[in-house]
Amino acid sequence: MSNLTEVETKDPISLEPFERPTRLLPCGHTLNHTSLASLILSNGDDPMLACPVCRKRSTTKPIEEYPRNYVLEQQIDCSSQNKQNAHEQKMKAKIQSTKDNKKQLSKTHGENSIQVVQCTRQLANIYTDMAEYDKAIQCYQEVISKVTTSNLGSAIVAPVYCAVGNIYERKGQYKKALQYLNDALKIQLKQYKSTDHVAVAAAYNTIAIIHCKQERHTVALQWYTKALNICKKNLEDTHPHVINTYNNIATVYYVQKKYTEAITLYNRAIACCEANKGTANSCIAASYNGIANVYAAQQNVSDALHYYKLSMKISLTIHGENHPDIANSYHNIASIHLINGNNNMAKEYYCKALHIKLDRLGSNHPDLTCTYESLADVYEKTGEKMRAIKTRIALTDLKKTLLGNKNPTLSTSYIKIAEAYKVEEDYNSALKYYNLAYSVQVNQNKPLHCLNKTLENINTCNKKLNTK
Ligand SMILES: [Zn+2]
Repeated sequence: MSNLTEVETKDPISLEPFERPTRLLPCGHTLNHTSLASLILSNGDDPMLACPVCRKRSTTKPIEEYPRNYVLEQQIDCSSQNKQNAHEQKMKAKIQSTKDNKKQLSKTHGENSIQVVQCTRQLANIYTDMAEYDKAIQCYQEVISKVTTSNLGSAIVAPVYCAVGNIYERKGQYKKALQYLNDALKIQLKQYKSTDHVAVAAAYNTIAIIHCKQERHTVALQWYTKALNICKKNLEDTHPHVINTYNNIATVYYVQKKYTEAITLYNRAIACCEANKGTANSCIAASYNGIANVYAAQQNVSDALHYYKLSMKISLTIHGENHPDIANSYHNIASIHLINGNNNMAKEYYCKALHIKLDRLGSNHPDLTCTYESLADVYEKTGEKMRAIKTRIALTDLKKTLLGNKNPTLSTSYIKIAEAYKVEEDYNSALKYYNLAYSVQVNQNKPLHCLNKTLENINTCNKKLNTK
């Protein structure tokens, strides 16, 4: 692409690439929605707005009244699709060449040789990066079975167990993850005769992540601190392991609402990343995302959005579009649109996030919960009642799978579904969900007034059905 076209495809205010939604000024110049929003804001009470490109003045309007430049938006979609295709081609070629290499090594060294084992491990690593978790586990299992039946490569057993543990953590299967990590630790202790080893720190780190995901933050912090102490003794401050641990600890501070500590640590991670250009890219994406989370929690939406986008830009170059990290970015950006009252944009981004999560993580992953919940809320706001109901049903089905039939949070979800059906005058469906809510409430020994309220609703539905 020539420099000229590159300049032309950038928003004239932010100098960032154009992105959805775009807004067309009467003079024919296009701005990103967010840029026009800040332009209108800084224009104060002035009834006339000057185009930042040609200075032509036009009457200031509410932002939604400026039409979108759909031709340009089509070009944006097309170019991101092209990028994604190129990324997928590149990864396919990488996998094919590794598989070819494995075949060749099998012929020259034998199927159970250490060369083939190493190559299979390489293949597993590529699948892990692509979030093809089941294929990665399959390859790692092959490595484990080959190594344990021979005396070859016993040194890689522990790291492979650790890698499988990492994948189960990403798949949201925490029990299985812990089993593999504990097995890895046992082997490592035998091997090194001490815990003072970087590989041990890596296992500690994932154990901490699992505790964190299950909201045991103090325990998580203890594991992280142990990991960090080992890393600092054995590695440079700019090593990705150290930076990762900074990021992870900062995340605990964030959920504990210790925002100043969190920001300080994220910035320290960023400084280390910048000192280690090239190898620490995914770490810096995580730091930006973390900083954005803090800003979002402090209602500083413009800075939050800025950092979310920075983070996503880096993740896109590493992983391409179809990756859980990108799904998280979409989810986060959607929540900023929601705070800004831009419900349609929020919906678009939550849908994108959900689509990727379902594709990469399957339908039973805990990370789906927050996206279903937010999406259902947005559908309610935009008046798409049936979509809201369907999304909430998907959410309760997931909660049942993850937390069991008697989980207390289910009754709230059931009641929300029942109420939505009641508004729609679908009393049969409303009745079904009030009854489900009632049985959960009875199980939890909810106070009588709660039970009575649900019973009252059940009676109302029955009456409505009888008079029909
Ligand atoms: Zn203009």
